[in-house]
Amino acid sequence: MDKSLLGSLATIVGEENVRPLEPLAPHTTFKIGGPADAFVSPRSVEEVSQVVCACEQASVPWRVIGCGSDLLVSDGGVEGVVIEVRDNLSAIRVDGTRIVAGAGATNAAVAEAACAAGLSGYEFACGIPGTVGGAAIMNAGAYDGEFSQVCACVTCVTPEGRIVEVPREEAEWSYRHSMFDAARYVVVAATLELTPADPADIRARMDELTAKREAKQPIGMPSAGSTFKRPEGHFAAALIDQAGLKGLSIGGAQVSTKHTGFVVNAGDATSADVQALIAEVQRRVLESSGVALEPEVRMWGREA
Ligand SMILES: Cc1cc2nc3c(=O)[nH]c(=O)nc-3n(C[C@H](O)[C@H](O)[C@H](O)COP(=O)(O)OP(=O)(O)OC[C@H]3O[C@@H](n4cnc5c(N)ncnc54)[C@H](O)[C@@H]3O)c2cc1C
Repeated sequence: MDKSLLGSLATIVGEENVRPLEPLAPHTTFKIGGPADAFVSPRSVEEVSQVVCACEQASVPWRVIGCGSDLLVSDGGVEGVVIEVRDNLSAIRVDGTRIVAGAGATNAAVAEAACAAGLSGYEFACGIPGTVGGAAIMNAGAYDGEFSQVCACVTCVTPEGRIVEVPREEAEWSYRHSMFDAARYVVVAATLELTPADPADIRARMDELTAKREAKQPIGMPSAGSTFKRPEGHFAAALIDQAGLKGLSIGGAQVSTKHTGFVVNAGDATSADVQALIAEVQRRVLESSGVALEPEVRMWGREA
């Protein structure tokens, strides 16, 4: 990467917050992926804006990472700058029935804060192992809850470096989708509107959902959650099961034996292993059921 951009980034965020050729595997829940040309941790919203502007000016690609829990990074890594928001933009503030959370706050931390404040509505997300920023981007959801149902507004940095507030009605939510991606907005914070409730009831609901997850999902193994989107009128896991693919392996990648909707890293899987397994599952499910599975996991590579 161009040395002058590295210098500009160091001036903006401090030298210690710019890591050239940082391997991305430790920053993802799959524990897979080669290096980013530069991995940058802004300390404030203003620094996010300045980093984005510096990259845009230098025509260097940039992208944002939260917990990396929906990512498959290629073995060759990614070009350009990866902006990490988890370390420094993770403050959580309770304001009446609202919670204002930095994009880097984890769903678990927000759910805990809501419970402590006696605010209900975010229990569904307590076991989704990502950030609030990732939840806004993906319209993350589970157990009949969805981010869009509780989000009042989202604060973003535009590719031009402007800081804007997007109200819930303008976010174009749909299944695992919002408008922030296409607009190339960096989510820097979100405001949630919740409902007062007894903390004991909130805790009981969180415990119930955690127990359900632990019973059904291969939580202890590295993965990126559900590998495929839910196809219209079907469940991906059931189709994969019916195709007889439970436990199918390529290299270190395996169709989970606990939940066939998950591809797991069963030990030293490469990104190429996972990609080959995803393609094989798609091929065989199409053959057996006629349904085309579409990956939910996002793929990052030098070309994408
Ligand atoms: C065990 C397991 C269980 C899971 N269960 C669920 C579930 O029940 N429901 C569900 O919806 N998902 C689930 N997931 C998937 C994942 O946790 C969610 O999609 C989550 O919202 C991703 O958040 P993240 O911070 O990890 O985002 P990342 O994986 O870091 O990024 C995902 C995408 O969002 C973009 N992005 C992230 N943060 C920002 C930001 N601040 N601004 C702009 N772009 C950003 C990235 O560039 C990338 O394109 C699961 C994953 C695992 C590993």
